[in-house]
Amino acid sequence: MNKLTIIGSGFSAGILSRSISDKDIIIFDKSRGPGGRSSTRRVENIGVFDHGLQFISPKEKKFELFLNNYLNSFIKQWDGDHICFEESRKIEGKKYIGKSGNNDFVKNLINTKVYYQKELISIKKIKDFWLLDFKDGTKNECEKLVLTIPLEQCKKLTETEQLDLKFEGVMEPNLTTMVAFNKNLEILGNAFKFKKNSVLGWVANESSKLREANNPNLELWTLQSSLIFAQKNIQEYRLKKEQIMNLMIDEFINIFSIKNINIVHKDIHGWLYAYKLEKFENDFFWDQEINLGICGDWMCGSTAESAWRSATGLADQINKS
Ligand SMILES: Cc1cc2nc3c(=O)[nH]c(=O)nc-3n(C[C@H](O)[C@H](O)[C@H](O)COP(=O)(O)OP(=O)(O)OC[C@H]3O[C@@H](n4cnc5c(N)ncnc54)[C@H](O)[C@@H]3O)c2cc1C
Repeated sequence: MNKLTIIGSGFSAGILSRSISDKDIIIFDKSRGPGGRSSTRRVENIGVFDHGLQFISPKEKKFELFLNNYLNSFIKQWDGDHICFEESRKIEGKKYIGKSGNNDFVKNLINTKVYYQKELISIKKIKDFWLLDFKDGTKNECEKLVLTIPLEQCKKLTETEQLDLKFEGVMEPNLTTMVAFNKNLEILGNAFKFKKNSVLGWVANESSKLREANNPNLELWTLQSSLIFAQKNIQEYRLKKEQIMNLMIDEFINIFSIKNINIVHKDIHGWLYAYKLEKFENDFFWDQEINLGICGDWMCGSTAESAWRSATGLADQINKS
């Protein structure tokens, strides 16, 4: 039996593993690598797409100082113009990205053993320990348990426990298309936010992040859908991948009047639980009686900074207990 088990290997888990003083910690994640929504798609001979988190723009001084510890080791700044399209206004503020991809944040923050392809399907409190059941038939016993998984999954896993916690609100979906063009598109601006477009919410020139693995002869863009487009298409996107990608790419091409280009690579990723827009009740949850903690961006916001706030708050409580 280990002392503390964390479920999920995203940004929250990275912060927890750095901040909890107890070192007998293990992490389980259902996916194949670290990052969660702070993720990177690397495509051979094409380059690197941040198909989840695009950048971190710290608002709280303490968070900025935390990130600055890692500037030039695995974090760098993403310069250039980021523009609110309809208002022709620059989006101010520092923008931090991972040096080789945005899963660098999590890869470098996590400093404990992680077991991948381990999907937790049920939890049970037995006397003074937690018994965890995984989809592959294996089990784990631990003294303290921390869940860093999205709201809907967390609610389902804990429904037998009658926690003193209201799971309010829902997490919204997003569809993200990754596309590589055969040449420079000569668009003035590294990224654009759309407030009124029914298809696109955000587009970013991934080549402008200047990563070594990017093919210099191509231009890579990440196109994130609008909320309305994602809500309409998320359930069926796997069956209609080509059609949905093309709708997003055509919209991008029309907006910027792009002509005479070839598409060298395209792919799409669907996020069923991308972010939460409202109803934030607690920064984190900790029940010392049963040794169960819950944290994640969705408890107090929708960004990596929210995940940091939630995880550092929970880590403080665990350290005190
Ligand atoms: C498209 C998109 C764009 C974004 N853009 C930005 C941005 O520009 N700036 C910003 O600050 N934030 C952005 N965000 C939000 C940011 O990605 C999140 O705030 C942050 O990554 C949350 O980290 P987390 O650790 O709380 O959760 P997650 O990263 O979701 O980590 C949870 C982990 O739990 C695992 N998991 C889930 N269920 C189970 C289970 N049953 N068993 C085992 N493991 C499980 C998952 O595989 C995942 O790895 C974006 C998110 C998306 C989706």
